[in-house]
Amino acid sequence: MKQIANIPNAENKRVVIIGSGFAGMKLAMELKKEKFQVVVIDKRNYHQFQPLLYQVATAGLEPTAISFPLRKLFQYHKNLIFRIGTLMEVDPDKKQIFTSIGKLSYDYLVIATGARTNFFNMGNIKKHALPLKSPSDAILIRNVILENYEEALNHTSDNCISAYLNIAIVGGGPTGVELAGALAEMKKFILPKDYPDIDFTKMRIFLFESGSALIKNMSPKSSKQAFDYLDKLGVEVRLNTFVSDYDGKIVKLSSGENHMTYTLVWATSIDALAVGLSMSMLQVSIIYPALIIGIVAGLFTITGLHLGKRVARLTWLSTWAEILGGLVLWIIGLNILREKGVFSTIF
Ligand SMILES: Cc1cc2nc3c(=O)[nH]c(=O)nc-3n(C[C@H](O)[C@H](O)[C@H](O)COP(=O)(O)OP(=O)(O)OC[C@H]3O[C@@H](n4cnc5c(N)ncnc54)[C@H](O)[C@@H]3O)c2cc1C
Repeated sequence: MKQIANIPNAENKRVVIIGSGFAGMKLAMELKKEKFQVVVIDKRNYHQFQPLLYQVATAGLEPTAISFPLRKLFQYHKNLIFRIGTLMEVDPDKKQIFTSIGKLSYDYLVIATGARTNFFNMGNIKKHALPLKSPSDAILIRNVILENYEEALNHTSDNCISAYLNIAIVGGGPTGVELAGALAEMKKFILPKDYPDIDFTKMRIFLFESGSALIKNMSPKSSKQAFDYLDKLGVEVRLNTFVSDYDGKIVKLSSGENHMTYTLVWATSIDALAVGLSMSMLQVSIIYPALIIGIVAGLFTITGLHLGKRVARLTWLSTWAEILGGLVLWIIGLNILREKGVFSTIF
């Protein structure tokens, strides 16, 4: 791979920052007057203010209002070089990164690439649900909602119209709560004016939360206020409710209840790259060795059963084999359930 072009060999040590979100940008700002060559690489040339994405999704703000050009932010940073590129690989031994625009050596490397939406390995949901992590996600949500309203006008059956109008949000954290509130206000004040032919009493806004409270990281008082506020706005908040499947039309809940909607926003938790690594590390370091131990232990069990009375000293091995075998099954079971998303709130 070629070197990234036009990055001079610096007199000062080189700090490479990957990602210019809140973390990367703040660090780059702090290093403005330090004696480093700072190289910032991001796959986008703008910083996005994620807390207001819900406003873009509900047409309250344009994407440009929450996106700030990085070159403008960094224009007075004489020690800073910015490039658009995507980090692909790091060689920590050689202190080199490999990106879509070439390779580069570093003295210090900061990876601040943020997080991604966590679908908890639920394939159907990943395929059909709408995440809200970037301006393009927000615009997609906005377009899907508006296209569904346009489509609702072409139908006569109440069930069918409701499926186009209904919106389900999964995750009662700040994103889900803010989005539900904004949609409920849209339903009340804006949509009836824009779509006078649609009866918006047929539109339901659901907020499904697997925990026992909304915005549970905040105080119980705030949590209750958020609940009451949404309730008053007509949002159907369902606590202690898991969404187990969604095929693009029917949301299946852990309670056995089903609801029809063509719009399901997935605003649950996030998944950092490190989490992904730690799960594969878990598999490599615990599950696979445990599986091997289990197989060996199983062999001991069989041997112990066959030789049982004749070789009494193998009995203790059988007992241990059974315990280990059980442990292995438990771990495998846990892993399978996790893959299916059953432990979505744990992992
Ligand atoms: C809808 C929403 C609402 C939120 N509301 C709030 C709130 O009200 N209050 C609050 O405190 N927090 C809120 N947050 C969380 C907050 O936005 C994040 O905690 C914060 O953005 C994390 O900053 P970061 O720098 O780690 O990552 P990010 O801001 O996500 O930045 C990561 C950067 O890395 C870049 N990148 C990613 N991968 C690569 C790669 N391979 N190569 C190069 N570049 C890459 C991306 O382009 C991006 O610019 C909200 C988040 C969302 C999604």
